[in-house]
Amino acid sequence: MERRSIVVAGGGPTGLAVALGLAQRGAEVTVLDRAPEPSNAPRALAYLHPVLPGFAALGVLDDIKADAAISDGMNFFDHESGESFHLTLDAIENDFPFPFVPLLGQHRVSAILLRHLAEYDNAEVLFGHEVVGIQPEDDNVTLTVNTAEGEKVIVADWLVGADGATSAVRKLMNLSFDGITWPEKFVSTNIRADLHAAGLQMTNWRIDPVYGAVIARYSSDDSLWRFTFKEDAELPDEGLEERIHAHFETAIPGNLPYEIIQFAPYRMHQRATSSFRFGRVLLAGDAAHVTNPIGGLGLTGGFLDAFVLSEALAAVVHGEVEDAVLDRYSDERRRVYLEYVSPTASMTKGILFDDHPAEVKQQIIGHLRHLRDDTEFRRQDLLSMQAMVTPSLLG
Ligand SMILES: Cc1cc2nc3c(=O)[nH]c(=O)nc-3n(C[C@H](O)[C@H](O)[C@H](O)COP(=O)(O)OP(=O)(O)OC[C@H]3O[C@@H](n4cnc5c(N)ncnc54)[C@H](O)[C@@H]3O)c2cc1C
Repeated sequence: MERRSIVVAGGGPTGLAVALGLAQRGAEVTVLDRAPEPSNAPRALAYLHPVLPGFAALGVLDDIKADAAISDGMNFFDHESGESFHLTLDAIENDFPFPFVPLLGQHRVSAILLRHLAEYDNAEVLFGHEVVGIQPEDDNVTLTVNTAEGEKVIVADWLVGADGATSAVRKLMNLSFDGITWPEKFVSTNIRADLHAAGLQMTNWRIDPVYGAVIARYSSDDSLWRFTFKEDAELPDEGLEERIHAHFETAIPGNLPYEIIQFAPYRMHQRATSSFRFGRVLLAGDAAHVTNPIGGLGLTGGFLDAFVLSEALAAVVHGEVEDAVLDRYSDERRRVYLEYVSPTASMTKGILFDDHPAEVKQQIIGHLRHLRDDTEFRRQDLLSMQAMVTPSLLG
């Protein structure tokens, strides 16, 4: 049996950000991840501006900027008319220190977090460690962990479940994950192509019931692009590559040549568990709440959990605050998910992919024109995104 102070189950980007925030505050933290090595699946790539002060506080923003494509905003465009709505963040340059959107595959962000974590003797990251059992008590949590060398038992003072949408921690605690699963799935592809030649910006949200897509760079290499579109969730994974080529015949802008590097299908959900705290077990990131990824709110939300949770939990461990602060973490982050993240992401998905009646389409286009052409209106809209940030709970 091993004793640990804080165990984070899940070494994805949320878990690593929690761990780095804890390590930097002098807390002893161990990350356990079931995978033999970090995943490079084609998932998050865009981190919205409200998350950037947290990256800066963790000391990772410069490294992320160095590897990322740096977009000056988001570009909606209407496939039918060709009209584009380039919504630049210069509108908030006098309000906000980081008016840009870094575009970088989440595995590269994880690699940066891991590199920074390696500088701390009080942090350990163990891959090939799968949490398979949990026994929560009043003053500790006993974990059963499968490793290549056999089963380990770890007793931790605190457990953070950051083990993703299919969270074992959530399931082992018998917690519900309430919400909906969408009838479509997303097909996420990484491709090599020269899409700037077709007039695309770095990040593009294409509006169309058939050709709706998110098309964005995912690193500083301008030939690497993420192209995500939707298909019926009932279609089998078998034959997916052929279906991607068939779709790209008409969907790639300018009919430019492309090479598929990687692809994966994803089901989409809007779901959250009833609380993000159960005694000494805390949940963060996709383990606590999932959203369809249109609009880049999934991992953005996970990072915003991580920033505020690591500060609060470190203060609890150091005896500086009562553990009631962790109830406030749960209440606030769950409220932000329900009131802001989930409705906003669902609305953005609808804008891109729904077959709108003409009147609704005109309203959407009118709103996007207003955002594009009226800097003050865009400024207010961009500033309103601060609603997803939970300020320090220690004040
Ligand atoms: C196509 C697509 C595009 C997306 N784009 C964006 C975007 O642009 N911006 C954005 O903000 N979000 C985006 N998202 C959402 C984003 O990918 C997720 O929100 C993010 O991966 C959540 O990170 P996480 O660390 O919470 O969970 P995960 O990344 O799922 O990591 C969980 C980790 O836990 C480990 N684990 C699982 N079970 C166990 C266990 N029993 N024991 C130990 N370890 C375990 C796993 O191996 C994994 O490493 C996108 C998602 C998809 C599918």
